[in-house]
Amino acid sequence: MNRIRTLLVAAILPFLSLSSNAAKDEVASLRISKQLKAPSTLDEGAWDLVSRIEAWNPAETAIIICDMWDKHWCNDATTRVAEMAPTMNKVIAIARDKGVIIVHAPSECMDFYANHPGRQAIMRYKDQTISALANGNKLPSEANAPWPVDQSDEGCENPECKPHRAWSKQIETLTVTDKDLISDSGAEIGAYFKEKGIQNVILMGVHTNMCVIGRSFGLRAMKRMGMNVVLMRDMTDLMYNSKMSPFVNHFTGLDLMIDYIETYVCPSIVSTDFTGQKQFRFKGDTRPRIAFLTAESEYRANQRLPEFAHELALKHNIHSDFALGIPIMTDAQKNAKPEVKAEYAAYGMPIDTDGTTFPPTRHNIENLQILEDADMAVIFIRRRALEPEKMAQIKAFIAAGHPVLGIRTASHAFDANRNVPREGGGLEAATVTTSEFLAQWTEFDREVLGGNYQGHYGHLNTGTDVSVVSGMEGHPLLKGVEPKFNSLNWLYKNLPLRSDKIQVLMMGSNPGVPDEPVVWINNDKVVYTSLGHWEDWKIESFRNLMFNAVEYLLKQNIKK
Ligand SMILES: [Zn+2]
Repeated sequence: MNRIRTLLVAAILPFLSLSSNAAKDEVASLRISKQLKAPSTLDEGAWDLVSRIEAWNPAETAIIICDMWDKHWCNDATTRVAEMAPTMNKVIAIARDKGVIIVHAPSECMDFYANHPGRQAIMRYKDQTISALANGNKLPSEANAPWPVDQSDEGCENPECKPHRAWSKQIETLTVTDKDLISDSGAEIGAYFKEKGIQNVILMGVHTNMCVIGRSFGLRAMKRMGMNVVLMRDMTDLMYNSKMSPFVNHFTGLDLMIDYIETYVCPSIVSTDFTGQKQFRFKGDTRPRIAFLTAESEYRANQRLPEFAHELALKHNIHSDFALGIPIMTDAQKNAKPEVKAEYAAYGMPIDTDGTTFPPTRHNIENLQILEDADMAVIFIRRRALEPEKMAQIKAFIAAGHPVLGIRTASHAFDANRNVPREGGGLEAATVTTSEFLAQWTEFDREVLGGNYQGHYGHLNTGTDVSVVSGMEGHPLLKGVEPKFNSLNWLYKNLPLRSDKIQVLMMGSNPGVPDEPVVWINNDKVVYTSLGHWEDWKIESFRNLMFNAVEYLLKQNIKK
């Protein structure tokens, strides 16, 4: 952990410890970066993808490894388990060193471990209340949830694989120490957790749509027992045949299942929280990958972009990862009741008793390691400064020539405007300037987008009329885009643009002011649009433009 990270975490921890997982000992906390779907407060029935940072006491934390058998009846499943196991073993070694309890749960293999100290150590634990909760029945939160994949054929692609009991023990790649526990009973595991004060549980292993979610020690059962449970989403797999509904790539099926879990069951994390390395990816997963970087609170990017990513997955088998900023609190929320503040604190917005926020939390984006394994980035960020190492990750990605789709506020993504800016304009009183310890990239607009953002022309009820530049009608980005449409956006001032490699594709027009470019390509690597209002995503032309932009930019990357 570097100095700045240590400094930030040290400053954040006292606030976080107000929440349910107070560190009682002097041990180093685990920094856990959760990702989950929360119901949108602005759009009924919609979901926001959000990030929550928590500090966990390792002594109150356990990892459960589900069904990482030596052999599965499905050969592909066996292969993927073997491929994932070395990284998983790294994760559990690091976690074990930090004081986390490791529970090996290879179901139906307890005979093999009958005399192992890890088996002996947990066998005597029983608790009637817990036993009643140790079941994998659907949670109330799943009542009306559409199941993402058809697994009625057992989820295997190969007609030669026949279901049978192929397993006898856990795969040997995973080290089982004498300090670890071995059990396939949620009643035993839950009773042990209760007696030892375990509150946080990380599930990993296979398969998300069957055992990981549904075993007596699975996600649902742990949730039912009141555990603070998460799925490690890059240390799991799916049983799904791509010839079954929704007829997507195996790994897209896995993405859809993880999305289901984040929405209806529990949050997820990645192995990066333990290893510090980029997230695991299966060799067979050769799909294009997009890193979505979102941190703004005006345009519902954390609702609209995950919806867009979902469609990219279903229609084009594109994998998306998100690096999320933290939602910003308004004055009204700051003056809210204690229980509302507690909720915000849980979202990673620590608030002290005076109702003031800890300034650096605004300037944080989680999960940026996704850039190390992405083919292109979509950036929808507004006025964030970042830890220098994080800014360096973004710069390195762009310097490597990867394509970027910039949306709306991307033009001032990394210009924090000196102090800590307030949403909606103006500066919030801050005791520190961001530049003292955080990096900005004020020239991102010029250097990457070729833009020249100088504010906007003001809000108009009539919106902005958008039209295709004459001669550009046949451009691949404009396939399915009407020659003219109206967008609710207020018009950004961008002229004169600052790259001689720009091709402007669409112009925006407001009465009484000069027309302004609203969609352009810079040097065939960057597409920028100053559109991106949440209502724009309902306009067929805008949606087509966005799909076309992704397709175009991914091709540019592959050519490289
Ligand atoms: Zn198979």
